[in-house]
Amino acid sequence: MPGRSRSAAIAAGKCPRCRQGEMFPYSLYNLTRFTVMHKFCPVCGLQYEREPGFFFGAMYISYAFSVAIFVAVGVALSVLGDYPLYYYLIGVTITIILLFPIMFRYSRILFLHFFGGVDFDARYSN
Ligand SMILES: [Zn+2]
Repeated sequence: MPGRSRSAAIAAGKCPRCRQGEMFPYSLYNLTRFTVMHKFCPVCGLQYEREPGFFFGAMYISYAFSVAIFVAVGVALSVLGDYPLYYYLIGVTITIILLFPIMFRYSRILFLHFFGGVDFDARYSN
């Protein structure tokens, strides 16, 4: 049986080793628990926090998402018309607040997949 691709595992928030176990136990839309993360993969037992403070590195990816939002909102407002600065600031703030759960999760998912030092292992995939 062909395994899930890395990009599909990232999009679905799956474990980098088995690509089947969920990284987050609750839905993205659960606004009180979207930050809760499994300590270990429920399928293969991989410890997600590779070392103490591992996910502090995910802040760099979150920062890149924020910069992308700043640029996207700025370009969108400049294309749509000549708006005062506070429109831009309000637009960026609202966009970042609305996208925060997605940014939080995908910064951790991407950081674990690309900087966690864990490769796909078919022995853990059934
Ligand atoms: Zn796993």
